[in-house]
Amino acid sequence: MATATVVLDPGHGGTGNIGGSDGNHAVSPSGVKEKDLTLILAKLVKTELQNAATAGGHTITIVMTRTGDVNLSLADRAHVARTNHADRFLSIHLNAFNGVSRGVETYVRRAQDNVNLADDKRFAGNIQSAVFNVIHNADSGTHNRGVKEEKFGVLNDVSLGNTSGGHCRACLLEVEFLDVPAVDVLLNTGSNATAVRGQIAKAIAGAIINDLVHP
Ligand SMILES: [Zn+2]
Repeated sequence: MATATVVLDPGHGGTGNIGGSDGNHAVSPSGVKEKDLTLILAKLVKTELQNAATAGGHTITIVMTRTGDVNLSLADRAHVARTNHADRFLSIHLNAFNGVSRGVETYVRRAQDNVNLADDKRFAGNIQSAVFNVIHNADSGTHNRGVKEEKFGVLNDVSLGNTSGGHCRACLLEVEFLDVPAVDVLLNTGSNATAVRGQIAKAIAGAIINDLVHP
């Protein structure tokens, strides 16, 4: 059994760039915006995490960085983890590149300024494999792009509180490439899209629980 605080961060929101956070980034061929899908997925994850916690006898406090169509700076998103003494921080995004590239990838803060790299990688690995398995089961055209290191502001250990007594594992999930037509069908317009969204959320919730129970 676990007692923990989890922060869910739906990427982007609102309009315009605030402190390094764009209002929106990816847009699907049918017009679904990344900022809206990240919020939908985060809310689903919250529900699944609450259900899993109840079923497993865990006490998990879930905090969302935003619950509406508003933007926060990257630092302010991380500060939600610091303020709440969070144990896990997951930022949810969707990719976009050339309308062809595909796959699931998860990022941790790069090694040279990450004070808990191994822990972050373990958490990210749990998230990555869980989400990849769900998407690959639904669409074999996806790819496992793995866990990568990057200098993402939302994963900054100072902002997360990890250099001032905090102990928050953090990663950023790029669910798939939203600008690809097949992904639009998979996540938005296909007959199974609602089910797939739910499966992704359930997988993320399970990965978070797994990471908390087997640290
Ligand atoms: Zn994004």
